[in-house]
Amino acid sequence: MQVREAIAQDAGTLAILFSVSNQDAAVGHTAGRYTLTLAPMNPPTSSPFGERRYRAWNEHVKTRYGGRVQKVSVLAGFTCPNRDGSLGKGGCTFCNNASFTPGYLDQRQTITQQLDAGLDFLRRRYPGTQRYMAYFQSYSNTYGELERLRACYAEALAHPDVSGLAIGTRPDCLPDAVLDYLAELASNHIIELEIGVESCNDAALARVNRGHTFATSVDAIERAAARGLEVTAHLMLGLPGESVDSMLDGARLLSKLPIHALKLHQLQIVRGTLLARDWQRDPDTVPLLGEEACINLLADVIERLSPRILLQRVGSEVPPSQKLAPEWNVRLSELAPRISAELARRGSWQGYHYVQDVSKQ
Ligand code: SF4
Repeated sequence: MQVREAIAQDAGTLAILFSVSNQDAAVGHTAGRYTLTLAPMNPPTSSPFGERRYRAWNEHVKTRYGGRVQKVSVLAGFTCPNRDGSLGKGGCTFCNNASFTPGYLDQRQTITQQLDAGLDFLRRRYPGTQRYMAYFQSYSNTYGELERLRACYAEALAHPDVSGLAIGTRPDCLPDAVLDYLAELASNHIIELEIGVESCNDAALARVNRGHTFATSVDAIERAAARGLEVTAHLMLGLPGESVDSMLDGARLLSKLPIHALKLHQLQIVRGTLLARDWQRDPDTVPLLGEEACINLLADVIERLSPRILLQRVGSEVPPSQKLAPEWNVRLSELAPRISAELARRGSWQGYHYVQDVSKQ
């Protein structure tokens, strides 16, 4: 094995890129990446993340890029295999893309026109922003012919105010050729690959008609990270079929993966989804987290996450016009401080109950 590069990601984490040659067995060369968390000589006795008590994405980005980095959503007209019939037609039972697609987007416009409209809006809303990334958010944005992906990404990157791409997709839409292309782009641009893991529990994934297993996510994340790509995983807490134990175990399983960041969402019932239909027929079939239970669970999960993982989101907010349940509503701007306050009340922080586990998944 040859160590190609060792990259200090932060004070406590080392990413090691390696290659292996096994010509005797005629299997050619393989490459990979290990992320090592270096155990401090003395475990921290107070929050290493200040008052926030978790490793916050926004602060990391400000340090790394010298200021705020804002994502500008674009609709490139992709669909997803769980909707177009190649895998399924109904989609994931919780999904209604309209619930997270900004209202100013118009798919009839070119990507450049959408970026101009989004930048116009965001420049006024966040005047101190340093850089912008085109955000391919809705549906599965690596699901298509490579030539089409190249054309979409290239158009976004050609915009003079765009420094990079954030690309949201499913783990089963990431063939090696697409990952190779993204790795090529990442040598000159900020590239963030957002993979919808949603759950580490196959029973829950099946219940929401996700159409892939956790092993599919593990495989995609490992192949992406092996190419040096920074992966943000999406996780949905409270899916039907999950228990508190399975979700806490999910934090342990995700911590073993070479993910760079995590977005946590809590399950909400959105109009027009299959889950909404089930909930309206019989709410008992879709138990939802109450407000306090949700904040407690988020704190529990964060305590069990590896301290090296950046938290890009600690909850989600659905526009009131599209949300059916739960009744409680905490704005995102309030949710994050509530979680920090809960961690402070416990005297804990991200990774407080994290146990490094080097066994295979
Ligand atoms: S959540 Fe993603 S994968 Fe599932 S149906 Fe919606 S777009 Fe498709």
